[in-house]
Amino acid sequence: MSHTELITTIILFCWPPLMVTLERFFPYTKGLKLFREGFWLDFFWYTIFQSYFLKILIFDWIIAPAKTALGLADSGYISSWPIWALVLLFLVTHDFYIYWFHRLQHNTFLWRTHEAHHSVKTVDWLAGSRSHAIEIIINQTIEFAPIIILLDVKTAAIVVPIKALLDATWGMWIHSNVDVRSGKLQYFINGPEMHQWHHSNHREVFYKNYSTKFAFWDWIFGTGFLPGLSPFKYEFLKPQQYGLPYEYPREFFLQTAFAFKRFDVKKVEHNLGIKPYVEWPNALVNFFKESASDTSKAAK
Ligand SMILES: [Zn+2]
Ligand SMILES: [Zn+2]
Repeated sequence: MSHTELITTIILFCWPPLMVTLERFFPYTKGLKLFREGFWLDFFWYTIFQSYFLKILIFDWIIAPAKTALGLADSGYISSWPIWALVLLFLVTHDFYIYWFHRLQHNTFLWRTHEAHHSVKTVDWLAGSRSHAIEIIINQTIEFAPIIILLDVKTAAIVVPIKALLDATWGMWIHSNVDVRSGKLQYFINGPEMHQWHHSNHREVFYKNYSTKFAFWDWIFGTGFLPGLSPFKYEFLKPQQYGLPYEYPREFFLQTAFAFKRFDVKKVEHNLGIKPYVEWPNALVNFFKESASDTSKAAK
């Protein structure tokens, strides 16, 4: 493990406890539970399982062979730039791309690759991890291929982990249930204030707030939405509900399949063969709830 990888990994592991602590002390929506519905799905299946396999697919099976096939020598076309300038370049260009791709996903058939992300009913630090495999493959290939192609191996080994860390921490931050008041900064930097609205199940904001890191794309291209922004008085207006306005599978493989082929969600999830498998996280939560209430009853 390189020096950069070590540092970025340490920061990455410290970030979730920081987000969770902020969520406990300054909640945007009060009363949200850490182990909420879909916690296991987002944590195990999307964050660990899917990320592990997609990283291999994107870097080793797509980008590396593409570079070889295209006959691109490892000359490192812009490797002489300072690291901060490289990070800034890839940050801004990718963020511009992601704004338009995200907008396209909300407006075309590509919605199928994005609905998983919007299926989270509790938007918190972990919610952003729920993204369909197709969405990740497209976005991360477009994100990391230029870095690998334009830089030599040594420089890419510094820029890639920094960029990946920024994605991960920023992703957790904009989804976090933290009541931040950043005032005029919201014209420049995206945060939970605008992204919580993007996830709300309200018709008027479905086509708003596409930005990920820099909020100015939304304001430049006319898709910014934030009640109370002007004249910067907070009216404590908040979205009331999150998630999708239609039936969506609760399980990882069914969610992945749903983008390719529509099916009757209730019928499939109630199929006797897979019902216990779909239900077990809820059954576990209910079991703990019931035993907790039994204990409190017994105590009375
Ligand atoms: Zn979206
Ligand atoms: Zn999101």
